Parts: sequence; C-alpha cells; structure tokens
Amino acid sequence: MTRFRLFFLITFLLIPAGRNSYAEDVLRVEYLPKAVKQGGVCFIRGSGPASITSIYGEFRGTRFPLAMGAQNRTYEGLLGIDLNTEPAIYKLKLVAEGGNRRVYTSALLLKVEKVNFKTQTLSLPSSMVDLDPQTLERVDREEKRLKALFRGYRDERLWSGAFVRPVSGELTTAFGLRRVINGQPKSPHTGVDLKAEEGTPVLACNSGVVALVDQLFFSGKSVVLDHGWGTYSMYFHLSETLVNEAEKVRTGVILGRVGSTGRSSGPHLHWGIRISGARVDPLALLRLTEHLRE
Ligand SMILES: [Zn+2]
Repeated sequence: MTRFRLFFLITFLLIPAGRNSYAEDVLRVEYLPKAVKQGGVCFIRGSGPASITSIYGEFRGTRFPLAMGAQNRTYEGLLGIDLNTEPAIYKLKLVAEGGNRRVYTSALLLKVEKVNFKTQTLSLPSSMVDLDPQTLERVDREEKRLKALFRGYRDERLWSGAFVRPVSGELTTAFGLRRVINGQPKSPHTGVDLKAEEGTPVLACNSGVVALVDQLFFSGKSVVLDHGWGTYSMYFHLSETLVNEAEKVRTGVILGRVGSTGRSSGPHLHWGIRISGARVDPLALLRLTEHLRE
C-alpha cells in the first residue's frame, strides 16, 4: 500500500471518532437543490469553527450575507437566481471571518439550468401602452422605490416553516412569461397570477414585517412584506389593504382583498418574491420550503 492510500485510510478511520482537528477547522457548505433553474431558489448552509463570527456568500460578483441558523454554529441563507441569469455552471463561494481576523473560504459549483419561458404577443391601442411624461415620471419613481426596498437586508430571519399560497386559486399567468406588446419587448412577468374572485382574502405567505402599503400606477393597491434574510413578498392589484407599514404579521394573516386596481384586466392576485434583489418564482420557494416545519 502506498503512503498516499494509507493516509486516506487513516483519515477515514479518524473522522467517525469526531475528534479530527482538521475537520473542525474547515468551512463546510451544504446547498439544496444541486442544480437550480433560472428564477429558482437555493437554500445554503455553512458551518465551521466556533470562532466564526460572520459568513457571506458570493455569486456572480454579488455578495449575499448568511444569518445565524437554528442550530449552533450554522449560518443559513437563501440564494435567489434571477430569471435572467445565463444558464451555466457558476462558482459559489463562501467566506467566513473568525477570531484573530482569520478568514476561511470554501467554493463549490452551482449549475443554473435553462427554462423555456413562453412569449406572449399582444396588440393593444397605443393609448393603453404609451404613457404621458407625467405618468412615466411616476412609474420611474415607483420602480426606483421598490428596487431600493428590495436591496435592503435584515440579518434576522422573520420567516419560519413552509411558505404558503396567499390565495388558493389556480395559476393563470406563469412566472417568467416574456411579453411583446405592439412589437416592443416589455419586462417579463416576474411573479405569478393566481385566479381569485374580487374580495377574496389575501394571506401573508409567511411571517414578516409590512414594508410597504401604497397605491402604485401599474400594481394598484399593493402590499410588500419583508421576511428577513433579504426575502420580500409582494401582493398587487388589491381592492383594499388591511395592514399598515411596520406592522408585524404572521403566516396566514389577511393583508388585503383581491381586486383589479392598477394595470389589470380583471380580478386576480399578482404574487411576487424577491431574494436579495433577484426575481424568483414564488412556486419554487413553496417547493423548497414545503418540508419545513415551524
Ligand atoms: Zn401578474
């Protein structure tokens, strides 16, 4: 037996004893699922020596922090894969800072798979599509406000257990649908439309803090929840809102009622999720967390 093979045999025998100082001194990373789709969500867990004080991840040049998990010495976070992320194999890096300014790093590969988002072509009267300068300015202001909101990060995890559907109705417009109106490509559909009668109660998809209640040009009467760890949920086109900004809510609390306010062709709920700014499919978050208990 070569020395090399002997070394591995000994290491193997030592690890189950749990006293291997080498194993204690590395940053370990687990993530789920192993291959994620465009608009998908990944659950990431890092653990390492007790001296670690903070961990952040890096994906496509952007940092995302991890927060202390439920178990001692584990840090967890959600990585959202924006729907426009090019399908490829990416390096996912974790960096931990420990005592005496020691830095631990760990890198792994994450595959992003292509989704064939459908395209919808529409012809509408130009009066419905072209906005006057004043409205354009309003739309621009509202978009900037939402973007700034979604860049926020709360270290604390406010959500727990499985995410739930805000209304029980079926899906009418899927996530990621590309829209071309009068020959012009418009922004893709970054949420899901769920069928519901006017007045149906809209429930909080998980616990959080109300981050925004307002009437917006495109989204109409809207509520946005901050769930912590950079995760936000939004509820658009409501007929009325029943919560106030800064209010704490629990899963299933009634946020408002289904309506057709803003740019909408009939009563339905538009439900969207952002994770550290990435536009992700709410149904992917439901699937990822369905096994979690509160
Ligand atoms: Zn929608």
